[in-house]
Amino acid sequence: MAEETIFSKIIRQEIPTPLLYQDDLVTAFRDIAPRADTHILIIPNKLIPTINDVSEDDELALGRMITVASKLAKEQGIDENGYRLIINCNKHGGQEVYHIHMHLLGGQPLGPMLAI
Ligand code: 5GP
Repeated sequence: MAEETIFSKIIRQEIPTPLLYQDDLVTAFRDIAPRADTHILIIPNKLIPTINDVSEDDELALGRMITVASKLAKEQGIDENGYRLIINCNKHGGQEVYHIHMHLLGGQPLGPMLAI
């Protein structure tokens, strides 16, 4: 059984964080340390530690993360100029919180895809 992270507490609102979106499958809220003018995290409500741990049972939630990203990008007015969706995995991917999350980044030019 994977260990819960702070994100499970945010989903359940045990740590009050303004939510931009929530349904039965996913939750979205602003990143606490934004790396761009718009920086939103979209996460499955189910605790899945990394992308290595997904199964076919998760496809509905994983697909919902994309449709919610598209909806939020429009709401935030960044859809026309564009944005970036990122999911980090494990150490080399720079993952810090072990509950899958998709970063929605935009509101400004984001530069090259990678800065290694
Ligand atoms: P990772 O590096 O795992 O892909 O990204 C984790 C992200 O979660 C980081 O961008 C970090 O700022 C964000 N984060 C960590 N703790 C919290 C929190 O308690 N609240 C919010 N809103 N974001 C958090």
